Amino acid sequence: MLKKPQIEEFFARLQKANPNPRGELEYRNPYTLLVAVVLSAQATDASVNKATEPLFKIADTPEKMVQLGEARLKGFIKTIGLFNTKAKNVIRLSEILVQEHDSKVPADREVLQSLPGVGRKTANVVLNIAFGQPTMAVDTHIFRVGNRTGLAPGKDPLAVELMLEKRVPEPYRLHAHHWLILHGRYVCKARKPDCPVCVVRDICQYKAKTVLE
Ligand code: SF4
Repeated sequence: MLKKPQIEEFFARLQKANPNPRGELEYRNPYTLLVAVVLSAQATDASVNKATEPLFKIADTPEKMVQLGEARLKGFIKTIGLFNTKAKNVIRLSEILVQEHDSKVPADREVLQSLPGVGRKTANVVLNIAFGQPTMAVDTHIFRVGNRTGLAPGKDPLAVELMLEKRVPEPYRLHAHHWLILHGRYVCKARKPDCPVCVVRDICQYKAKTVLE
């Protein structure tokens, strides 16, 4: 497991390489961010962005989404996996936001997680990006990077999340999950990590690092 000074150095380097990391999902406000994250479960950000570009032009608030209705929403998102269930969830969560939350996305984990289609990871993404809370939204990339490197080993996403909360130094907390997602997506890839070009290769504890061929 990495030690504190190593973790400091790990994030200092990711920060230097990418000072202002951003997620890759497109959104216009906290509501469209929430919808985009719900749609992104088991789908690529690129496929979600393609579908939401025209969708958010006509439905960027809960009221407008409810007005659009489930059948027409399906027409916009039918290229995304699990679109039937996702359409149902988006309409239902929009109705709840209108009826119970003054049409606003609540900055509250419990309330967010009580909405249809919203799990812990989705709530963490929304709390982080829309409300600036230093949450760790552990997806498949962060889970892998946390375990491989020795940064935050854990048997499941929740264990990795709690470990990151405990171990990531304060100045890096807000952006930590973005750096780790991007690092996992583009460098520390699932099948074959790009260790020879990795900025933290001398810190990382992965035993099966790849080498230049
Ligand atoms: S050295 Fe390799 S395994 Fe370690 S973080 Fe970098 S890409 Fe991943």
